[in-house]
Amino acid sequence: MRQIVFATGNMGKLREASEILGDGIKLMTPADIGIHEDIPETGKTLEENSLQKARYIFNRKGCDCFSDDTGLEVEALGGAPGVYTARFAGLEKDFDKNMDKVLSELARQESRFPGVSRRARFRCVVTLILDGKVRQFEGALNGTIARSKSGHGGFGYDPIFIPDEYPDRTLADITEEQKNAISHRGKALSAMAAYLAGIS
Ligand code: IMP
Repeated sequence: MRQIVFATGNMGKLREASEILGDGIKLMTPADIGIHEDIPETGKTLEENSLQKARYIFNRKGCDCFSDDTGLEVEALGGAPGVYTARFAGLEKDFDKNMDKVLSELARQESRFPGVSRRARFRCVVTLILDGKVRQFEGALNGTIARSKSGHGGFGYDPIFIPDEYPDRTLADITEEQKNAISHRGKALSAMAAYLAGIS
């Protein structure tokens, strides 16, 4: 069985990836191979950050691995918060403050440019390093930014993101199963899973 390290400490992501990759692949975490420190993310794009995380694992242990990096890209904010999604409102990664900042910056744009678009997308870049070779896979979830927060499920910016697939609900209003079926990360991981299935 192929063993691959997923550069994450997030058990929800690990569960999602293992469902998508199926039984033929044994997933491990950085902790399983003796990497306990925070992996640096200092890139200027999602592609760079995602690559940096996978390279970190590969350079230390030389094993097959993959990583993911996600950003929320809001059209009227010129693609922000983008690579700064996790710390848009400051270093402490406060989801409530991050969402408030998106809502207030969009409101400011609307007061300047009435009718401005509220379109946005989550974009996820997965980097796979297999036998030392790098490949990237992308997935996106399109939607609009709500006028206020709604729902208690999910995490991060879910309460202000209305996916095109559920136009009257936010990601925090739908079930985890419904979200995983349409999510940016699910799509990027599925593209990687299809690639792995094709070469095994
Ligand atoms: P990461 O690259 O997966 O750690 O994501 C970076 C940031 O994007 C997170 O801290 C969240 O704020 C946000 N994010 C990523 N995925 C989602 C999602 O599915 N829903 C809402 N926010 C997300």
